[in-house]
Parts: sequence; structure tokens; C-alpha cells
Amino acid sequence: MSKPHFDLIIVGGGLVGASLACALCNTNLRIAVIEKHSFNDQSQPSFDERTIALTWASRLIFESLGVWKDIKTEAGAIKSIHISDRGHFGTTRLNTAHVGTEALGYVVPTRKIGAVLYDKLKRSANIEIICPDEVSDSKSSPSEIICETLNGRRIHGKIAILADGGRSDIGKQNNLFNDVEKYSQQALVSIVESDRISEQTAYERFTEHGPLALLPMTGNRYALAWTLPSIEAARLMSSTDLEFLSELQSAFGDRVGTFIRTGLRAVYPLSLGHLEKIHQNRMLAIGNAAHIVHPVAGQGFNLGLRDVAEFVDYMESCVELSEDPGENINLEKYSAQRQKQVNRVVRFTDGLITMFTADSHGVSLARNIGLNAIDMSTRSKRFLLKKTMGIDGQLPRLIREACEA
Ligand SMILES: Cc1cc2nc3c(=O)[nH]c(=O)nc-3n(C[C@H](O)[C@H](O)[C@H](O)COP(=O)(O)OP(=O)(O)OC[C@H]3O[C@@H](n4cnc5c(N)ncnc54)[C@H](O)[C@@H]3O)c2cc1C
Repeated sequence: MSKPHFDLIIVGGGLVGASLACALCNTNLRIAVIEKHSFNDQSQPSFDERTIALTWASRLIFESLGVWKDIKTEAGAIKSIHISDRGHFGTTRLNTAHVGTEALGYVVPTRKIGAVLYDKLKRSANIEIICPDEVSDSKSSPSEIICETLNGRRIHGKIAILADGGRSDIGKQNNLFNDVEKYSQQALVSIVESDRISEQTAYERFTEHGPLALLPMTGNRYALAWTLPSIEAARLMSSTDLEFLSELQSAFGDRVGTFIRTGLRAVYPLSLGHLEKIHQNRMLAIGNAAHIVHPVAGQGFNLGLRDVAEFVDYMESCVELSEDPGENINLEKYSAQRQKQVNRVVRFTDGLITMFTADSHGVSLARNIGLNAIDMSTRSKRFLLKKTMGIDGQLPRLIREACEA
């Protein structure tokens, strides 16, 4: 039987796959990263024009990976969060004083994250980047997994990490697939400028259509993610810049001043789904391949990065105990633990959407009382922040070490 050439094969070098490779670079592990699109390819779906919110925990993970110093040059810090329900009385304000961290999170273009990760990967002797190429099939035996690519390569490894974002058939072929539930809304994203310098406050405003998030970037720029029914999103996509800015102004109000400019607008479909079982046939799903959540609370990639940190702990313990990381019994223990946290985040984000889009008077009253109750309790604020910042409970080494540094 042939000996695996690689300890780890990463299928998909997007945000999550590239982060995992970075987390394991300069180790004794031999790693192959297979990615369909070249980094600068316009159709690269992970590193596009989107700007995403990183939690404090994600910053700590990137610090441990040694890449935060480069990412932070384009990171806008979030020092406070303002949550409101349009047309109602409920408001909650959260800030760094409630948790004692330098920021609550950061806003960073995904293209910047990708550029920094790939720069590090290219310089790592233990990583082979196979790109552009695409995994088209996989076969497993009791001792290894073989990934076959469209360019005719057969890559042998002990374990394959499926980080394809659920974009290929590899998950389906290995029973790592669940039908995702499509939300009837879409996210319209853009970068908008106001006539005032941002006060590093992130706004989450729940409107009758869905949540509107405005995240502070550097200067007077904000990343906008506006969840809307598809028909409304299409209408706003075809409106002129002036019409668009005027509609945004009336939906959001004038808390950040007057909107004066908008960048390119793009629309993304929204889905919800997670796997009941995240491993099969020496393959383990992480990131969007394992769970897709609504971007309302900015948790998708953050959850994927936590998968990375937890997997690094798992891999280190396998190496220390000379255990096979692809063996079913080991993966079974790891995934039971991992699923608990993922399920909590999936339920939390879906619950937010359900609660804030329900238009019955009773639900609206309850959520506004809830927002005000949180606003009056420092303890509740600290509890909520620690959960959404990813720094509660038992933490993986990549977060712990940066916390202690
Ligand atoms: C509008 C919007 C806003 C968002 N905002 C936030 C936010 O604020 N905060 C946050 O944390 N998250 C946010 N997210 C979620 C975040 O973008 C995703 O969670 C993240 O992109 C998932 O990364 P991934 O690497 O798992 O998958 P992907 O980004 O989908 O990457 C998968 C990669 O695999 C490659 N690939 C696919 N199939 C194959 C194959 N067979 N062989 C080789 N390569 C393959 C693809 O080319 C791609 O590079 C947002 C999402 C949307 C849509």
C-alpha cells in the first residue's frame, strides 16, 4: 500500500482553508492546499470585494498565526456597537469598557486577509499549494485518503479537510452534505461614505425588511450589509447612486451624518445550514462546508476560524500521542465537541433573524423591552459581548496564547 505523501490535504484555499494552512505552516506536517482559483482571479469567491467583521477572538487567532500585524493595516476597529429597532423604542449600546479589550472587533476587506495569508503560505517549506486545480473525486482506505484533481493528480494524505465552502460535489460524494435552507432575503453590500469621520461604532438596525448593518472602516467609510427581500434588493441594485443613498439615509437615519458616496453594490443570496455529521471517510468539513449562517451577527468566517483553532489543538494532540488524525474513532470524539458550539451559533443567528423580522405586536414589544433591558444591565452586556466576541468558555491554544501574551 502506498504511503501518504501528505499528513493533511486541504480541499479549498479560501478564507478558512488558507487560514488552516497558515496555522500549521512551519511545522513538521506535510500539507497540500488544493484551490480552484488563483488568488487574483476575478472569480475567486472567497477573496472578493466583501468587507467582513472579525471578532476579538479572530484577531487573537491571527495574532498567533503571526499575520495580524499585516492585516491590521487595513482593519477598522469597532469600539462600540449600537443596536436599534427602526420605528420602535428599543436600543442597546455596547462598548469596550464592558469587556476591557482594546476593541470589540474589526472590519477588514477579505481581499486583504487573503493577500496576507497567501504571502505567508508561499514562504512556508512544509506547504504545497496546488492552484489552480480542483478536487473532483476522493477515495479512502483504512490508512489514507486520495484526492483526485481535474488536472489528473492523485494526492495521498492521512486526512482531508473539506474547506470548499460547500461549493463543489466533494461533500455530497462523501455524505457531508445537507440541503441548505435559503432565506427569502438577500444581502446587499457596498462601501458607503458619510460626511463625518466614523466614531468606530458599528450599527445594527433592525428594519421591517431585515437587519441593516453599518460597520466602521478607516476614515469616513462604512461597510454596509443590508438584508432585504430579493425584490427590494433588485430594485436598489438598479437604482442610481443618488437614489440609493437617499433610500439608505431614510432607512438608517442620520446617526452617522449624511451619506455622500457609495461604492459598487453587490448582492449575495443568504442561506442557513449545518451538517449533522462533519466527518466521513477520512474527510472532515470545516468553515462554510460544515455550516452556513446568516451574516446578521457577522459570525460565518469567525466560526470557521474557530474550527481552524480547534482543529489545530486536535492535530497537535494526535501528533503528541502518535495517533492517526484520520481515524474514525479520533474524529468522532473531536466532532462531538465541535458540533455543540457550532449548533449554538447557528441557533443564535437564526433566532435573531426570526425575532427581528416577526412583525406581530407582541414579538415587537418583547424584543424592544429585551433591547432596553440589556441596555440597563452591565452584566448582560458583558455576557452578550463575551459570547459574540468568541472569548467565553474553554478556549483553544491559538486564542489562549495570544490572550496571555
Ligand atoms: C454578504 C456576506 C457578508 C458576510 N459577512 C461576514 C462577516 O461580517 N463576518 C464573518 O465572520 N463572516 C461573514 N460572512 C461569511 C463568510 O464570508 C464565510 O463564512 C466565509 O467566506 C467562509 O469561508 P470558507 O473558506 O469556508 O468558504 P469559501 O469562502 O466559500 O471558500 C471556499 C474555497 O474553496 C474553493 N473550492 C471550492 N471547491 C473546490 C474544489 N473542489 N477543489 C479545490 N478548491 C475548491 C473555492 O474556490 C474557494 O476559494 C459573510 C458572508 C456574506 C455572503
